[in-house]
Amino acid sequence: MHGDPFPTRPNCQDGDPAMLPFEAARQRMLDPLTPVPGTVTWPVRDTLGMVLAEEIRAPVDVPSHTNAAVDGYAVRGDDLREGETVVLRLCGDAFAGHPFTGGVAPGQCVRIMTGAPMPAGTDTAIMQEHTVIDSDRVSIAPGRRPGENVRKAGEDIQRGAVALTSGTVLHPAHIGLLASLGRAEVRIRRPLRVAFFSTGDELRSVGEPLGPGEIYDSNRYTLHGMLRRLNVDIVDLGVVCDQPQALRAAFARAAESADVLLTSGGVSVGEADYVRGILEELGQVEFWKIAMKPGRPFACGRIGDCRFFGLPGNPVAVMVTFYELVQPALRRLQGITETDAGRRLQLPCRSRLRKKPGRTEFLRGIIEPGADGGFEVRTTGPQGSGILRSMSEANCFIILPHDSGDLEPGALVEVQPFDGLV
Ligand code: AMP
Ligand code: MG
Repeated sequence: MHGDPFPTRPNCQDGDPAMLPFEAARQRMLDPLTPVPGTVTWPVRDTLGMVLAEEIRAPVDVPSHTNAAVDGYAVRGDDLREGETVVLRLCGDAFAGHPFTGGVAPGQCVRIMTGAPMPAGTDTAIMQEHTVIDSDRVSIAPGRRPGENVRKAGEDIQRGAVALTSGTVLHPAHIGLLASLGRAEVRIRRPLRVAFFSTGDELRSVGEPLGPGEIYDSNRYTLHGMLRRLNVDIVDLGVVCDQPQALRAAFARAAESADVLLTSGGVSVGEADYVRGILEELGQVEFWKIAMKPGRPFACGRIGDCRFFGLPGNPVAVMVTFYELVQPALRRLQGITETDAGRRLQLPCRSRLRKKPGRTEFLRGIIEPGADGGFEVRTTGPQGSGILRSMSEANCFIILPHDSGDLEPGALVEVQPFDGLV
């Protein structure tokens, strides 16, 4: 990078020159992160969502033999005649798992089932529907091409080829692929251990009665859910009150046992926001005001070997900063190589959007079918950073970039869907 890698911009929302543009903050946070060491050998069947820690090369061709893609008749392509019906003599059967071991001479054919190895001498499988059988005579109507309906040995993966790279998050297709190579176990990264707690004297845990001015602690529940999806080991440290002693003890305990500590609340500049002082005492931590909405105050750093991310307290800000900043960081610490950059869409937005230039905004949106048969997006309505319902109803973020201003209905916007298929 050349010059100042993290320039602040003159048009920042409240004129605060210390406010980092979102992309710069994200890059600055991710750049120094390297995968946490440690791998384990694991049964392939139980690796869903885990991170592969070895390169997988195919020890065999997949499929291992050239085979029929249809039920029908294995024939020699040379026997077919363009524009003519040909009649061949049946000389045997080939089933999946029970190959035909004889030879097939010109003028002969073998009844074959899908997946059965092609008998020696044959190179074409004719679909049963294109034939007429009379005793051991098989008539094949014109129009069939030599070589059709055959799956070549190694057409899925050739022996010696790289089937999966280290750093792949294992989805069902990857697990099936490993099985198709005969692997029973693979090396995976050991799960990250992620601890978290909420801060705030106003917080009560569910099941307790609420006193005046108190609210239920929802952030630990959303954090728990978001972490579950990442296949990390979760350590829930509960609610810590706004007292320096209690916070100091919680930080020390988490730093001893976890790779990563997440907290919510207490990172802004209120009277009871002690997190900053304590972290500066215990570790190396940077506090940022990020030009994003929601989620402006954010802290990041380390206490010993434990990485620390301090999220804001507002429930929607917790989710937005988790998905946009913490999740990419956790993926990097887990050694995951792919990014989520490809999972963005451009869609027309039905809502009128008010936006100040100078900050990146993450609106809660709903993608739905539009009148013209394509898809479009609208906001969920009020976008306050405490309105968790907006997240529960949404199926995407609408991302408005740093420099954009107001948008009229119908404008194209960048959309990040919440769920993917695989
Ligand atoms: P703070 O950053 O600690 O000033 O919190 C900002 C806002 O988020 C306040 O209205 C808090 O009451 C609220 N808040 C903080 N932590 C939680 C939590 N764990 N669950 C729900 N709301 C919270
Ligand atoms: Mg607080």
